[in-house]
Amino acid sequence: MRELVIISGKGGTGKTIITGAFASLAKNKVLADCDVDAADLHLILKPKIKEEQEFLSGTEAVINKDLCNECGLCRRLCRFDAISEDFLVNPIACEGCNFCAFACPQKAIAMQKNPKGKYFVSDTKFGHFAHAKLGIAQDNSGKLVSLVKKQANEIGQKLKSDWIIIDGSPGIGCPVIASMSGVNCALIVTEPTMSGLHDADRIIKTARHFNAPIKLIINKYDLNPVMSKKIEAYCKNNDISVLGKLAFDKTVVEAMVEGKTIIEYAPNSETSNKLREIWNKIDNEVI
Ligand code: SF4
Ligand code: SF4
Repeated sequence: MRELVIISGKGGTGKTIITGAFASLAKNKVLADCDVDAADLHLILKPKIKEEQEFLSGTEAVINKDLCNECGLCRRLCRFDAISEDFLVNPIACEGCNFCAFACPQKAIAMQKNPKGKYFVSDTKFGHFAHAKLGIAQDNSGKLVSLVKKQANEIGQKLKSDWIIIDGSPGIGCPVIASMSGVNCALIVTEPTMSGLHDADRIIKTARHFNAPIKLIINKYDLNPVMSKKIEAYCKNNDISVLGKLAFDKTVVEAMVEGKTIIEYAPNSETSNKLREIWNKIDNEVI
């Protein structure tokens, strides 16, 4: 079973559209949305949820009012001013350091894990799908990404799938590192702009640091052919294979609005044909 993650230096480069197209094209696969901070692959895949689990993460102090004698020690010790005058812990301010729980003479403070989101296994028109929903303003998304990947991996092992196809997170932070871990190919999607090249350079350095084999696609290359050439030259100098270049195509937007992949919506379009070509290269070249 091979793992492919589609990533980009920033959001909005077309990574989910490309993941959706590969979901249509690949035969025996499991799909995963590891862009848990801004998950949107479900808009195309329209999953029917089969399993749902709570994502518990981080700890915060909780004061048991029945045991507390309001001595005030915890308030004096907390460096984050997280405990109010009436001895309630502010969950946003609490850093979960455990100091108050350790110091409380009444043993009135417990550290508690909290629900930060949910993760799911679903059925879709293209096969099994592992995905998640992170709560608003919650962190630890790297941990949630690892859980989603683990779910996809377990399903893939069980069903003897050929591929796990992952919509990764944008950027170079903890979630993208978690989504890249152990993959057979990190496919970077970039756009022909100066910032596109800069972002691609950062994500390539990150991927190399974690030994992820890299390939690249230039999306909307025709909007700036000069910059596209610069990106191709950069890839040549850095020994990175450019699997293809996609032209700007408004039918891609129409497909998104319809909640379909471009392969479903316009199977004979230039973009669909190009994506078929790119998928075949991935299927043949990635080991
Ligand atoms: S240290 Fe313990 S007993 Fe004292 S106020 Fe805090 S929770 Fe209550
Ligand atoms: S766990 Fe640490 S940060 Fe949270 S209330 Fe206690 S002392 Fe303050």
